[in-house]
Amino acid sequence: MNFRSTRSSECVSPSFALLHGLAQDGGLYVPESFPENVLDYKQLAGKTYQEIVAVVLSHFFTNFSDEERKQMIASAYNEETFRDEQIVPLHSMDTDLSISELFHGRTLAFKDLALSLFPYLLTAAKKQEKEDRNILILTATSGDTGKAALEGFKNVPGTNIMVFYPSEGVSPMQKQQMQKQEGNNVKVSAIYGNFDDAQSFLKRVFTNKAVNEYADKKGVLFSSANSINVGRLFPQVAYYVSTYVSLVDTGCINEGEAFDVVVPTGNFGNILAGYFAKKMGIPIGQLICASNKNNVLSDFFETGIYDMKRPFYTTSSPSMDILLSSNFERFLFYVSGENAGKVAQWEKELQTTGRMAVTTESLKILRKDFAGGWINDAETRAVINHVYNDYGYLLDPHTAVAYGVYLNRHKQGMGSSRHTVIMSTAHPYKFPPVICEALALKTAADPFDMLTDIGAVTGIALPKPLADLQNKPVRFSDAIPKEEMKQAVLSFVDSISQKS
Ligand SMILES: *Cc1c(COP(=O)(O)O)cnc(C)c1O
Repeated sequence: MNFRSTRSSECVSPSFALLHGLAQDGGLYVPESFPENVLDYKQLAGKTYQEIVAVVLSHFFTNFSDEERKQMIASAYNEETFRDEQIVPLHSMDTDLSISELFHGRTLAFKDLALSLFPYLLTAAKKQEKEDRNILILTATSGDTGKAALEGFKNVPGTNIMVFYPSEGVSPMQKQQMQKQEGNNVKVSAIYGNFDDAQSFLKRVFTNKAVNEYADKKGVLFSSANSINVGRLFPQVAYYVSTYVSLVDTGCINEGEAFDVVVPTGNFGNILAGYFAKKMGIPIGQLICASNKNNVLSDFFETGIYDMKRPFYTTSSPSMDILLSSNFERFLFYVSGENAGKVAQWEKELQTTGRMAVTTESLKILRKDFAGGWINDAETRAVINHVYNDYGYLLDPHTAVAYGVYLNRHKQGMGSSRHTVIMSTAHPYKFPPVICEALALKTAADPFDMLTDIGAVTGIALPKPLADLQNKPVRFSDAIPKEEMKQAVLSFVDSISQKS
């Protein structure tokens, strides 16, 4: 199985796609021929999460042997990296609603499900490509990705990772998670500026010829860990598959019976993995894309128009504060009937005018699989409060957006009679101030003080990754002006080459 670009006929091996992330023509890699309808319940029943990942990946990463994949999967998903032995447990709310908990990894966000495995895929690809330079992963983060990438790459031989975050743009808990990061191959720095500054400065460093040549001379190759990489996308298909198996096993649905999913969405990676699971044969009815006030995607599913010329809002679900969802291009590829010329044209329109539209006919077709909806911050807090009071279950703000969209669809008579699963993307304790406000508790300066109060009310214990964090020393306290990012990268390159 090779991968092709969404914008041209460019075609590469899986290892090349893993190592380079983005296609040469600016497009994203997708399977050259998609493995349609290859999964069914009988073949999956009784399998562990790890075995399900192995089945899913065997359809995409054919460049690795069964044994190689098995070893990588065993290193990624085990009792040290996940707090729940099922990896992705299913929580039943009532007869027609379940919650798939994707947040039991080391950083308590669903990003752990991909970023626990990605470093192994990347280093194996590096070996296959006979690339012997040291890899340096450069990442700008608004919170969850940076920490999950740091935990995934920490102490992985042959790799190093450097993360930049906006000094005032992340939650107090996320800040501590990054400042106290462990590992002998990691570096973290805050910058004075917002996430877009960090992102665009880093892009310039990435593509700067002199910087790349300097790194090359020092035996270092830049790479990235963002969600457009095939190594992050395909591992995510597995939890939709395991969710289906759990639904049948617990009697929520019958074998082969369709269920809907509601996905709190930002970069469109999570929900796209659900769409891929459906294409592979998992009986998903509708994929419901839930947005916060940055509702560019839910508008698209309403009108067929993607319009990013609109104000950007900072919300209580920060990982969904995105106007240009990078994985959306892959979705457009399938909407167009795998027409790379059409995708290239749409992407050009988006770049030049900030807007693109699909035909009414296409909209009709894609609405068979997809629907959208959004709620604002006040509604999000109300959902957290209501679900806690009625069910004793505490949602994080991102998951609460999905839950709110689900409730609204039913109120408006748009709900289906199918069983619905809400994909839960973070542990509520990552966002203490929002939870305090939602439960009408007073907020405090120290996030751990707030968690003590929340714990006293809810009885939910402090998860070990956060309990451990509390007593760890700060390792990375510097904050630098954004103009100094380039120098910071070069200094880290020097220290890598001195080590090896
Ligand atoms: C990243 C993230 C999302 C958005 O996921 P996408 O794959 O980017 O759509 C939602 N919730 C949380 C908690 C996240 O960290």
